[in-house]
Amino acid sequence: MVEFSSPLRLHLDGATLVANWRYMQSQGNAACGAAVKANGYGLGARQVVARLRDAGCRNFFVAHWGEALEIADLVPPEWIAVLNGIEAREIPAIKQLGAIPVLNTPHQLALWKASGGGTCHVMVDTGINRLGIGPEHVSDALFAGLDIDLLISHLASADEDSPQNAAQLDRFQQLSKLVTANRYSLANSAGVFLGPDYHFDLVRPGLALYGGVTRPEMEAAIKPVVKLAARILQTRWLQAGDSVGYNATYICSSPTQVATISIGYADGYLRSFGGVGLLDLNGKSVPVIGRVSMDLVTVDITSISDAIEGDWIDVNYNLAKNAKLTGLSQYELLTNLGKRFEYIWS
Ligand SMILES: *Cc1c(COP(=O)(O)O)cnc(C)c1O
Repeated sequence: MVEFSSPLRLHLDGATLVANWRYMQSQGNAACGAAVKANGYGLGARQVVARLRDAGCRNFFVAHWGEALEIADLVPPEWIAVLNGIEAREIPAIKQLGAIPVLNTPHQLALWKASGGGTCHVMVDTGINRLGIGPEHVSDALFAGLDIDLLISHLASADEDSPQNAAQLDRFQQLSKLVTANRYSLANSAGVFLGPDYHFDLVRPGLALYGGVTRPEMEAAIKPVVKLAARILQTRWLQAGDSVGYNATYICSSPTQVATISIGYADGYLRSFGGVGLLDLNGKSVPVIGRVSMDLVTVDITSISDAIEGDWIDVNYNLAKNAKLTGLSQYELLTNLGKRFEYIWS
C-alpha cells in the first residue's frame, strides 16, 4: 500500500479540552455534560468522548442516532442523549442501541409510550421555538407513564445580556414544577455564565469545551483546542500591477512575495477569509490576499525573508477573532473543518 501524508494538519490539544471541561464544571454544583454532536464540533467525536469520559463526564449529547452509534462502544449507552428525537421506524434499533432519546413532541411521547417506554429525556420549549414541547401542550396526562431522566430546555440568547434569558429561566422553573423528572437541565456554554440559577442538575456545554468564547466571563479561562497548519506549495515575486487569484480581486501595489498554501474552502477555510484571514509564519502574521480557492489560499509573505516551498505555516484559527473577521460563527468555524486534515492529538 502506498501512503501519502496530508499537507494539512489539525493539531488537537486533549489536555486543554479536558481543562476547558473542568472549568465549565467548576462554575457551580451541577454535573457537567458535553455536547458532542456534529462529530464533536468537527474535532472527532470519538476522540473527544474518550477524553471527557476519562475526565469524569457522564452525559454526552448528539443530534442524530447515527452519531450515537458512532460513540456507543466508548461509554455506557445510557450516557448518550439523542437531541433530535425519534421516528416510529427507528424505535426497535433505538431500543437495541440503548442510548436515550430526547422526546420533543407530543407525537414522540405517544410513540415512546406505545413502544413500552423505558427511560427517556424530554425537551420543553421555553422560547427558542425550535425543538421541544411548548408550554401550551404541557399537561399531567401528556407525561403520565413516562420515566423521564432529564427534562431539558435550550436558551436562545445566552451569549447576550438579553431579557429573553430570564424569561426562559422563569418558564423553565415553572415547567420543572409541573413535569416530574430525575434531573433538570437548561444551560449551554454561555448559559453557564448567567449564574447558578441557570444550572439546575446538569449543564450541557459544547462550544466552550472546544475553545469557543461567547461571553466575556470565558475569555481568561477557556483556551483554544484546535490549531491548523498547512504547507507552502509555491512562492513567487510579483510586481506592482500584477493580480492574484480568481477574478483578479487583489492587485499588488508594490513588489510582493506571495506564498500559495494548501488549504481552501473545501477544508472549511471559507471564502469569507479572502482579504481578511491571517496566517502565522515564523512568528509573524501574514495576510490572505485575493480569493480563497477550493484547495488553496494565497498570502503576502513579503515581510518574511526565509519562507520556502514545503514549509509548514500556521493558519490563525482564533475562533472569536475569526468570527468577527469573517462573519461566520465560532460554531461554523469548527464544524466546517473538512475531511482532508491529518488529525494529530496531543
Ligand atoms: C448544541 C447544544 C448544546 C451546546 O451548546 P453550546 O452553545 O455549544 O454550548 C446544548 N444543548 C442543546 C440542546 C444543544 O442543541
